[in-house]
Amino acid sequence: GDATNLITEKMLSDILEKNRTYCTKGIVADYIPELGKMDARAIAFSVVKPNGEVISVGDTQKKFTIQSISKIISLMVAVEEKGEKEIFDRMGYYGTDKPFNHYANLETQGKPLNPMMNAGAILTTALIDGEGDIPLQKILDMVRYITKDDTVTFSETVYMSEKETGHRNRGIFYLLKNNGLVEGEEDKLDNYFKQCSIEVTSEHLAKIGYFFANQCVRFDGDTKYKSSEMSKLIQSQMLIAGMYESSGEYARTVGLPSKSGVGGGIVVSVPGRIGIGTFSPSLDPQGNSVAGYHMILDLVNQLDLSLFK
Ligand code: GLN
Repeated sequence: GDATNLITEKMLSDILEKNRTYCTKGIVADYIPELGKMDARAIAFSVVKPNGEVISVGDTQKKFTIQSISKIISLMVAVEEKGEKEIFDRMGYYGTDKPFNHYANLETQGKPLNPMMNAGAILTTALIDGEGDIPLQKILDMVRYITKDDTVTFSETVYMSEKETGHRNRGIFYLLKNNGLVEGEEDKLDNYFKQCSIEVTSEHLAKIGYFFANQCVRFDGDTKYKSSEMSKLIQSQMLIAGMYESSGEYARTVGLPSKSGVGGGIVVSVPGRIGIGTFSPSLDPQGNSVAGYHMILDLVNQLDLSLFK
């Protein structure tokens, strides 16, 4: 049988306690000033099992901002609406050796490397139809659907903090405009700042991981968005670029589609099986949660979950 059916609360809490020490091994992101206020000691670990059952340990009610994990949701919304070709005519399927906020080949090739880096994600969201914050509402609705939680919303203070200090993202937006990839004004960029500021819990992340692991079927079995093409697209992007320049090394050790955010979250999809969500705000230099990575690695090793045998 599937070893993931045997995951218990005790198993997760043993792994969490073992890795608590990593909470002090990284640095809480403070380039967005509001993020710097997060408690470095917070830690949470959640799994959605094959049957949709949710198991969570640690600070499971603690909210944090989704940050770059929102990029997989906005990609889904944009591709749902426009089709994959229309989106990927304007960006690549490339991996990266560059940090998430790098201009990468926007200058030389004219297009973002992929939708997981800021440049590709800012463009993806700008391609979703609708005036003002309608695209953001679509992204928010998708997060609410996947998590089955209508209370999910974004943090106004984190949004304002991102907007005030996001000069690099603003620069990327204007390069995209210069290259003829996007039309419109900065409200298109505001939607990206707002989507990054959506507040979630580790449990929400595990449900997102489960959704993409299981052909976009929700944890409770709802099939409204069922599509293996969509889940293949999203998981392949997670695998090749979800952890930015660490993606290759991460594919070697964890071997699963994963997506991190500088709010301290990581989402993992174990294809056809389970979703994993972790939270711990201390980050490594690439912007990935240190304790999150170690909790995931321990579970993966214990149950032999890597895709690569
Ligand atoms: N909002 C962040 C930024 O644009 C998201 C980055 C991330 O989570 N890696 O800088």
